[in-house]
Amino acid sequence: MPARYADIVLPLAQPAYTFSVGDVEGVAVGDAVTVQFGARSIYTGIVLRLHDTPPQGGRAKPILARLYERPLLPAEHIRLWEWIADYYMCSIGEVMRVALPSLIKSHALSDEDYHPYTPRTVKFLRLNEAFDDEPMMERMSRRAPRRYAVVEQLRSAGGELPRSAVAADAAQVAALVKAGIVEVVEREASATEDVASERRLPDLSPAQSEALQGVREGLKQSAVALLHGVTSSGKTEIYTHIIDQTLARGEDVLYLVPEISLTTQLVSRLRGMFGERVVSHHSKLTPAQRTRTFMEVSASDGGNLVVGARSALFLPFRRLGLVIVDEEHDGGYKQSDTAPRYNGRDVAVMLASLYGAKCLMGSATPSLESYSNVMRGKYAYVRLTERYGGVAEPEIIISDTLWAVKRGERKSHFNKELLDRIGERLERHEQVILFQNRRGYSSYMECSECGYTPRCGKCNVTLTPHTSNGTLRCHYCGHTQQITHLCPRCGRGEMRPMGFGTERVEQEISRLFPQARVMRLDGDTMTSDGACRRMIEAFARGEADVLVGTQIVAKGLDFGRVTLIGVLNADNLLNAPDFRAVERGWQMLMQVAGRCGRRDRRGEVVVQTSDPAHPLFGWMLAGEYSAMAAAMLAERHLFKYPPYSRLVRITLRDTDPQRVSRAAVELATSLRSTFGPRVVGPATPLVDCVRGWHIVEIMLKVEVEASMSRARGLVRRAVDAVRGRSEYRNTVIICDVDVL
Ligand code: ADP
Ligand code: ZN
Repeated sequence: MPARYADIVLPLAQPAYTFSVGDVEGVAVGDAVTVQFGARSIYTGIVLRLHDTPPQGGRAKPILARLYERPLLPAEHIRLWEWIADYYMCSIGEVMRVALPSLIKSHALSDEDYHPYTPRTVKFLRLNEAFDDEPMMERMSRRAPRRYAVVEQLRSAGGELPRSAVAADAAQVAALVKAGIVEVVEREASATEDVASERRLPDLSPAQSEALQGVREGLKQSAVALLHGVTSSGKTEIYTHIIDQTLARGEDVLYLVPEISLTTQLVSRLRGMFGERVVSHHSKLTPAQRTRTFMEVSASDGGNLVVGARSALFLPFRRLGLVIVDEEHDGGYKQSDTAPRYNGRDVAVMLASLYGAKCLMGSATPSLESYSNVMRGKYAYVRLTERYGGVAEPEIIISDTLWAVKRGERKSHFNKELLDRIGERLERHEQVILFQNRRGYSSYMECSECGYTPRCGKCNVTLTPHTSNGTLRCHYCGHTQQITHLCPRCGRGEMRPMGFGTERVEQEISRLFPQARVMRLDGDTMTSDGACRRMIEAFARGEADVLVGTQIVAKGLDFGRVTLIGVLNADNLLNAPDFRAVERGWQMLMQVAGRCGRRDRRGEVVVQTSDPAHPLFGWMLAGEYSAMAAAMLAERHLFKYPPYSRLVRITLRDTDPQRVSRAAVELATSLRSTFGPRVVGPATPLVDCVRGWHIVEIMLKVEVEASMSRARGLVRRAVDAVRGRSEYRNTVIICDVDVL
């Protein structure tokens, strides 16, 4: 008996609803169907569950039609959607909204667009894992070198290849099968054969080969491996070997990058190795393009290689074998502005585990979250410490700004150490990048003598000055104190507010070096990805001597002629009111430094700071990631931050400032009655009013050992109670789990 009811998710911010199956035949979980919802609207929905329980107190409307012959989504994705809705505290309809391309949601596609797929079968040769006769192999290597070569080829491909990719005749294969060394298996496959025949994978350096071996071993032991390789060590080249092996098994590969702008270059690089099968998928493609990829992946039986931003996680792969998360530390993986507020890196791990697939993360500067998973033995860990092609690491010079001021060796924004070097480079016709951090909007106080900056003792973040009423405020917990004029640490210096990147650095450079050609790359000059790329290419061609840029310059760019990088103000990074400031500072400085140097001349990175004694610089000079990580993890532990807790940020917004603070105080009080001191705030964020909306935040720190699902349940209940009050019907309350 077919089930009578179906729970169906619609692309609305709603839970799933129950519909009756009626006489629609063959309805299955994962099917796309049409239903009527509301007075007149017809929607495309996805079947989550089939059952025989009628909905409470009423009749269920019928399913109108099944859209396609085959379920649009595999069961793994149904579970993924449910997990995301639960974990990130949103409705499953909101997950559907990001997961499906708009043309499918608007049911503008017919079955014509989605041909039922008839699988072909392909023969594969596979090494018999149980075979273990070294003496026989040894004899074979001498007496039957061609047969032995087949074994070697299979070994280096991870144990399996399509028959057509193996250069051996039928008699040789038959002999290997008879000896029990090789098995022939038949597989449904799409275009698996042509990969192997046309692949042109890069040859690896000895260090890279060793890392590749490490990754292979690691992924045998663990579901997730972290490849920690310095910038330009060739992580991409290592990925390609693992990708090739996965595709050769007829499985799908998803290759994630944190930013859409990084996909184009990568796709063309990968097409050179894997042919036209490489497709990109992200939210800036047209609805038609996205729909096509979605339908093709849904109709295929594996063997796809998709390069994409986080939204590519929702492609309905049938045989996912590998997910690569490149630059895993990057905040670009987190969706913060709309629900679901998910982190693509973490969803990737969940997705891979639902499929029994492997997840390979890579970074030059791993996040402390991932690194602590390594320390706890959850992730395999592989290091690659040398740059490809013998390019030396740049020399790092910490330049003391306060000292330079005292000695009269600072002109405008530049210490003499940096200015002299810029002059030298200009003479030698080498290129310079000046890096100016402009993250956030806040400012901080700094002592003119010792560089001291006041912090919140409870939250371990810098305090933000509010000069209008002479106070310093913690924007996590709301703690407020008076601004003092003398430095509380050295007792001699004067405390001054320091601002953020309003300096016109490029004008100053042009004034100091009239002969220099200066280019600026930031949000203002960069109106589109295309404009950004054109500027970077122009700089790479040598059309300017100096590039002034914000953190954009730190992202995956290669400039062969850059031999000097100046970081104008590292204090901005370190004093950002964010408990991750030091980690982020490390990441940014290391990424920036990675842009510098060439084979014949070692690069230099000059870091200007008022706080040269900050331990970060010591770790940087020594290249000691593990020391930085250990110290930062100890701090996180002390102040109960991730990875030792999960942070849930609850944001309240209202056009009425009094009402929003009342709602926040009520919610915080109610949360405190269950969560006690785990509740931080309410406090106003750095930007506390956006287009007439006043914003207040509450933060919740839940220990990782505690039950997160119970905590979410309690938060939901407290939030719903406030939402339910008629006084607060215009107050918007948003929960963000694992905030970045
Ligand atoms: P990462 O991702 O680790 O920063 P990339 O993979 O982008 O490094 O490699 C840096 C540069 O070195 C690229 O230009 C790449 O083409 C080159 N490269 C790295 N490994 C190899 C290799 N094995 N053969 C040829 N070129 C390589
Ligand atoms: Zn605080």
